Amino acid sequence: MSLPDVVETVAGLQARLDAVRATGASVGFVPTMGYLHEGHASLIDAAVAADDFTVVSIFVNPLQFAPDEDLAEYPRDVEADLARCGDHGADLVFHPSVSEVYPVGAEEPVVVGAVGGPLEGASRPSHFAGVATVVARLFRIMGCCRAYFGEKDFQQMAVVRRMAVELELPVEVVGCPIVREADGLALSSRNVYLEPGERRQAPVLYRALLAGAAAVGNGEADPTVVVEVMEDVMSEAPDLVVDYSALVEPDTFVMPGRITTGAEVRLLVAGRLGRARLVDNVGAVAP
Ligand code: AMP
Repeated sequence: MSLPDVVETVAGLQARLDAVRATGASVGFVPTMGYLHEGHASLIDAAVAADDFTVVSIFVNPLQFAPDEDLAEYPRDVEADLARCGDHGADLVFHPSVSEVYPVGAEEPVVVGAVGGPLEGASRPSHFAGVATVVARLFRIMGCCRAYFGEKDFQQMAVVRRMAVELELPVEVVGCPIVREADGLALSSRNVYLEPGERRQAPVLYRALLAGAAAVGNGEADPTVVVEVMEDVMSEAPDLVVDYSALVEPDTFVMPGRITTGAEVRLLVAGRLGRARLVDNVGAVAP
């Protein structure tokens, strides 16, 4: 498979998009921070299947990292990323510099609504403002398109959906399922931080989520009991420092008082294993 074309400037990207749209083609967009794995590739596959022209962006966004987070050591391998993009049929890679994305310096951040308040929003206070700011900028640069996001970052997807509606951006946000290792660990660029002993403990997050989802499926209606079930499982991993475990309504991110019959809920966990911060989630439906 041939390598995709790469553009590094907004003007270069928009010139290509103008030419593509002049033919009536639809545009798919996959925003990433690079160090691509099969989870990212699944988003590219979804875009290639549904749209005529697929753009992947690779941009490690400084705004979404707190000063004590891993911006400097965030893993990068652009050559391998381009090969993977080509293998999966992406047409164009947008690989801009920080000054290309933020030409006037620190932008006025996009305000994040209530859906970004709890969980990741509480653990990483400036994170979603950074995400919403860069994604709004990328959406404006891209114009009308379908944008593909992973359910792996379920709350981020909700924040981006609301942002696109509130800012009236002509972008349809498409959610894609989580891609996992054989033992259940969700693929993540940050999994490279795991030492062997930590890697062996890492699937405990998914096991906890499955146990919680099974409790919901068996009719447990008290969210705090479901959370206890997840915490019990996570306590099996001696090195895991749990950030949160939660059960929420998927649209509002509010924890319901009771889980009503037929309700769809989302179970989410986050924690640290050594240098790696891991997040994961599953859906469940009450009987
Ligand atoms: P990132 O490069 O971590 O910013 O992720 C870029 C996009 O890939 C986001 O929409 C993520 O949710 C998605 N993604 C990351 N890991 C996975 C995975 N294991 N399965 C599906 N999508 C993923």
